[in-house]
Amino acid sequence: MATIYIVMGVSGVGKTTIGKAIAQQLKIPFYDADDFHPPSNKDKMASGTPLQDEDRWPWLDTIVVQYPQWKFKGAVLACSALKKEYRSRLQVDHKQVETIYLSASFAFVQQRLSVRKNHFFNPTLLQSQFDTLEAPESGIICDATLSKDSLVRHIINTMKQQTTSQLGLIGLGVMGKSLSRNFANHNITMSLYNRHVPNVEEDVAVQFVYSYPELKDSCGFDAIEAFVNSLSLPRKIFLMVNAGPAVDAVVTSLEPYLSIGDIIMDGGNSHYLDTERRTKALQEKGIHFLGVGVSGGEEGALKGPSIMPGGTTEAYEHVGPLLEKIAARDTHGNACCAKVGSGGSGHFVKMIHNGIEYAEMQLIAEVYDILRHHGMLSLEEIAQIFDLWNEGEENSYLLEISSKIVRKTEDGQPLIDVILDKAQQKGTGSWSTTAALQIGAPFDTIAQAVLARIISSEKEQRVKGQQHYNIEREEITNFDIATIKSAYHTARIINHAIGFETLRKASKHYDWDLHLSEIARIWTNGCIIRSTLMEQLIPILDGFDDTILFHESVIPQITNGQSNLKIIVQQAMGTGASIPVFSASLSYFNAMIQGDSSASMIQAQRDFFGAHTYQRKDKEGTFHTVWE
Ligand code: NDP
Repeated sequence: MATIYIVMGVSGVGKTTIGKAIAQQLKIPFYDADDFHPPSNKDKMASGTPLQDEDRWPWLDTIVVQYPQWKFKGAVLACSALKKEYRSRLQVDHKQVETIYLSASFAFVQQRLSVRKNHFFNPTLLQSQFDTLEAPESGIICDATLSKDSLVRHIINTMKQQTTSQLGLIGLGVMGKSLSRNFANHNITMSLYNRHVPNVEEDVAVQFVYSYPELKDSCGFDAIEAFVNSLSLPRKIFLMVNAGPAVDAVVTSLEPYLSIGDIIMDGGNSHYLDTERRTKALQEKGIHFLGVGVSGGEEGALKGPSIMPGGTTEAYEHVGPLLEKIAARDTHGNACCAKVGSGGSGHFVKMIHNGIEYAEMQLIAEVYDILRHHGMLSLEEIAQIFDLWNEGEENSYLLEISSKIVRKTEDGQPLIDVILDKAQQKGTGSWSTTAALQIGAPFDTIAQAVLARIISSEKEQRVKGQQHYNIEREEITNFDIATIKSAYHTARIINHAIGFETLRKASKHYDWDLHLSEIARIWTNGCIIRSTLMEQLIPILDGFDDTILFHESVIPQITNGQSNLKIIVQQAMGTGASIPVFSASLSYFNAMIQGDSSASMIQAQRDFFGAHTYQRKDKEGTFHTVWE
């Protein structure tokens, strides 16, 4: 049985206009109660005689007998229904009748009636309508003085608010907007909320819902309590707000309205230790908290991101099917979304993803720099090299966009040449370096990529340095593209090895039970570091309990590539290039294959000046030497 909506109010308040517009939006028939008046009623009203109860009962009965025809599709009925008992009559035999009351002052309606044409209602009867009116206290009550569009929007939104949604999303910024459209495109009913800031941010969610057709079944809220109440149990709420205090503020505002078993997902780039803290605090209250890493930027969020949720299996069972629906697909058509581990692991994994991304970007920048400033190639030649590499095993999203970047012109000039050479580093890059150091994971390439951005931001100092020393960059004379490609490939493998080893260490350290092969799989599409190499790493990481550098399929690649990496590092450094990630990858590799390292000297120095003691190769125990 479908709902019959009665748009009620005094004559002239706009029932027909609004009723028709609502019916059009809901795609259900519209009826005007005036069309059911017997001629005698119309004559009375035209002559300025107010209708009495005995005039109205037969009229209402005539309407009610139409219900059997209306009840399947539903209908919108514009009807004055001024008294409570009239409305009760209109509800007889049909449980699903909703009242929409258009409220306005006498003066407002009188002004409207004064310009209304071709209507039998005599404006002198307006006072009698107001005298008869018993304004309803329930149903949808609206201010009829609003514009038609605002009124219809308000009414439709309030109707939607009365039904429950599968998922709630808070934070309609760049990512929240795209994600909610993606969820809606996958037929997931959504309740959306953005914070209310008086006179600044009002009805953001309501307006957003009306901006995109795919959100037709979604509902916008400006009040947090109504938003929470609109969600089916257990409530599933996705936060897409800025990391830090905003997440705590939103969680605090939600808490009073949540029930045991509800699930909050934080999709922002939160620090994993904050996620661990929030998870524990909410767990004590029976609320699940999942840290959900999301990668892919604005476009990925809309078309299919890579999603890295961490938390309890119990919570994932509820939200996993929704997240997996909107995620990108791997080459086998499986969702690039899987529970990566427990606790704050989702955000840790996203953080390391970003770390790998930093180093991948920096490596491409270094290749570009070598080709352009030491190989003396043109931008078109560089773009062609990137295109060629992209057709083979070096294929990656970042290389693809880099080829487009070097070809981009503005007013006939290469755009890259006018872009300021200062790179920002926000949050995840330096967090990942600190986190890796805290758990004792060597993070060479990624730390160097972060440092490279920091040095880049010191533009003024660098310009001064150039002036002081005035050392020209030199051309690499015996330049070979194949050598650079091999060095690039080798450095990338080493960088990925560093990223995955950090995950392995963190998994043990925090007891997260990370599945590295599955993480590689969900990084094969939708995210910024998707690449052919990442696909190759899925089987390598599967069940292999050591660094990928020691895998039988990787050893021959590195054996071939490391000599080229050495050549490029020597050539480029020798001719004045700054190549921190290339050189860090080589340095890491050299260190990782030295059974005997220079650390004996470090241990001796520590014992010399601080009596820190040392261990020996030739016997067990702890030793101290009186050095002088
Ligand atoms: P935006 O700045 O575009 O949007 C932030 C949202 O958070 C806005 O809706 C804002 O509301 C809301 N917000 C901010 N402070 C508060 C608060 N105190 N209380 C309630 N709401 C608040 O950011 P993005 O959408 O780009 O990013 C959101 C999160 O996703 C961040 O953590 C970001 O690091 C992460 N992320 C971003 C990616 C990207 O490519 N942009 C990719 C992956 C993750 P209001 O409109 O009222 O200010």
